[in-house]
Amino acid sequence: MAINAVCIFMGNLIGSLIFLQQQTHDGVVHVTGQIRNLSEGEHGFHIHKSGDLRNGCMNANSHYNPFNKTHGASEDEEKHVGDLGNMFVESNGVAVLDAKFEHVTLHGHYSVIGRSVVNEMQSYIIKELDKNTKTKAIEGK
Ligand SMILES: [Zn+2]
Repeated sequence: MAINAVCIFMGNLIGSLIFLQQQTHDGVVHVTGQIRNLSEGEHGFHIHKSGDLRNGCMNANSHYNPFNKTHGASEDEEKHVGDLGNMFVESNGVAVLDAKFEHVTLHGHYSVIGRSVVNEMQSYIIKELDKNTKTKAIEGK
C-alpha cells in the first residue's frame, strides 16, 4: 500500500515537501517540493527524532537514528536515517527538492511520519496525507 506524507512550512519559511512511497517497506521514498525564505547557500537537510514543536527545534532532539549509526552524507553507507544530505538555496531564497532516498521509510515502526524537518531554527512536522483526497490529487499531477 502506498503511503504519502507532507511536511508543510509555515511562519518564516514557506512551502511544503511531499514524501511519496509507492511500495512497502523497501520502496524508495521520493521527496519533492519547494521551500522559500531560506538564506542562500547549502543547508543541511535532516529528519529529527521528535515531532515536538513546542520550543522551536529545541525539542526536536537529534537526527533520527534508530540504528545507532554515525552521522553521514546522503550518499554515505554509514548515516542516520534522518540524514538527507544538503539542499542548495538559490540567491532568491528558494530551495527546490527532488530526491529519492532508499534509507527512509513511511511504513511501520521506523516511519518518519510524526517526526520533524528542522531548518533555520524552526521545525516542521511530517504528517501522513489523507489517503482519499489529497493523495489522488498529487498522483494525478
Ligand atoms: Zn545525522
